[in-house]
Amino acid sequence: MYTFEYVRAGSIDDAANILELNPEARYLAGGQTLVPALKQRLAKPTMLIDLRTVSDIKGIHRSGTAIGLGAMTTHQEIAASADIASACPALCYLAGEIADAAIRSRGTIGGSLANNDPAADYPAAMLALGATIVTNKRKIVADDYFKGLFTTALQPGELITGIGFQQPDQAGYAKMAQRASRFALVGVFVARFGSTVRVAVTGAGETGVFRVPAMEAALSADFSVTALAGHKVPAAGLMSDLHGPADYRAALIPVMAERAVAAALA
Ligand SMILES: Cc1cc2nc3c(=O)[nH]c(=O)nc-3n(C[C@H](O)[C@H](O)[C@H](O)COP(=O)(O)OP(=O)(O)OC[C@H]3O[C@@H](n4cnc5c(N)ncnc54)[C@H](O)[C@@H]3O)c2cc1C
Repeated sequence: MYTFEYVRAGSIDDAANILELNPEARYLAGGQTLVPALKQRLAKPTMLIDLRTVSDIKGIHRSGTAIGLGAMTTHQEIAASADIASACPALCYLAGEIADAAIRSRGTIGGSLANNDPAADYPAAMLALGATIVTNKRKIVADDYFKGLFTTALQPGELITGIGFQQPDQAGYAKMAQRASRFALVGVFVARFGSTVRVAVTGAGETGVFRVPAMEAALSADFSVTALAGHKVPAAGLMSDLHGPADYRAALIPVMAERAVAAALA
């Protein structure tokens, strides 16, 4: 660690204004990614702007089929939410599979989406659900939000305030987790809205989360596990790292997709 200033933001505008005056500052949400990065000196902000004191970016709101999640909603709150359980139980399951209880109790969905780790779980859900990422400046649809490894459409200083999505008719998530961290080696989220199905894969892409149009077409015609029979995903463009080569990830994607559909139908 090294010396930096620490301030508690009182509101969304307060946080954004402090950051504008201090361009080398960083927002602090749950700290579950940022604090380890500080310890390893991978990040050296001059100031941390704590968002935990900004009350209007917390909590889960449901209005009919519209779901809203404040950016500071923790993984544990999403996993345990009765509103999410009734609207999209796959998202509760996903949140409950992140890391361990300590990280889930502090880590937030806003921090995860701002960080956009290529093996994080939420990006798959947000992309498959066609969610909207709401910031202090605008609304960004998920298809336009994820730009690459640890890269998003957020501009410097832009603050995620919340996430919105419509309740799907059915949804499921399945992941092959890295044993130590529980990050996704491959995670597949499937969501059905009427006759439209969206399939998003995390953990595998060289440029982060991506959709699989061929699977989406097959599942839109027939939302069943057998509709995916014979589907293959090429290894080109997939990650190879110490956790597994690209062809292993390619083989896992159809398996996880089938499990996600089975979970959605269960
Ligand atoms: C050991 C370990 C295992 C993990 N396993 C998993 C896993 O299995 N699956 C998974 O998905 N994740 C996993 N994570 C990541 C975890 O989910 C983090 O909680 C998450 O990535 C970051 O959320 P945070 O609230 O802690 O953000 P922070 O660490 O506080 O911030 C992360 C980044 O986002 C920025 N930021 C935070 N909030 C906002 C906002 N509202 N607007 C704009 N920028 C913002 C910060 O400035 C910082 O750059 C793991 C982390 C660890 C350390």
